[in-house]
Amino acid sequence: MSRWVLSGLKTGIKTTHYPAQQEIHAGVSPGLPVTGSAEGRTAEICPTAALTSSEGRIEVNYRRCIHCFRCVRSAESAPLDWQQGYEWAARAADRPALETGAFGRSLNVLVVDAGDCGACLSEIAQLTNPYYNIHRLGFFITPTPRNADVLLVVGPATDQMRAALKKAYDAMPEPRRVVAAGVCALSGGIFGPSLVSGAGAADVVPVDVEVPGCPPPPLAILHGLLVAVERKPSAFLSSPSAPANPVEAAP
Ligand code: SF4
Repeated sequence: MSRWVLSGLKTGIKTTHYPAQQEIHAGVSPGLPVTGSAEGRTAEICPTAALTSSEGRIEVNYRRCIHCFRCVRSAESAPLDWQQGYEWAARAADRPALETGAFGRSLNVLVVDAGDCGACLSEIAQLTNPYYNIHRLGFFITPTPRNADVLLVVGPATDQMRAALKKAYDAMPEPRRVVAAGVCALSGGIFGPSLVSGAGAADVVPVDVEVPGCPPPPLAILHGLLVAVERKPSAFLSSPSAPANPVEAAP
């Protein structure tokens, strides 16, 4: 035990300073492709139909992009621009804003695995480790819907999980928020819609905040939680005319 204390004193605090400061350490985010000119580029390169081409531009549908990097590494198409940030979470336009201070100073988050492959869950698990340490922000994971303020959904909402997801949401007290993390939860991803799966969490519960990524890195999920409680501005990922990330991207 004393060795761990000594080691801690020697190395100092390693917890990220985000959201007080942007995190610039290498590897905190895989980045995302950015909408841009279609010159020399082809939308057909994308295996998930996340790219569409019109009026000389290639647009990225962040509900379908699985971070395969094909649009930036393939020899058949000029590389798309790539954004290195992680503040990707966007509030759904049709959902009402929260009243100021609606959740007080702490937030209980219920995570529901609605058929996830394991990748998004693994990123969520990182949020409570000493590096991301969401407890310092007053965010806690709860197993109980009756204690939960935010429902964090991953997975495409498979048929086996639809009823459980709806029940969990119905058991939560008002005010409540739903954050859908990962492309499966946003659109069904590579699993849905299909015979056994829906087209994302919005088929079952009203989604307030969307976090793209496959999987989204922990800081993108944390940004989603901060957007849900209006402690960070929403990104504008679905609007081709807006910047991919309103906050300056980490280098
Ligand atoms: S990274 Fe892959 S999935 Fe995403 S837009 Fe590019 S080609 Fe499509």
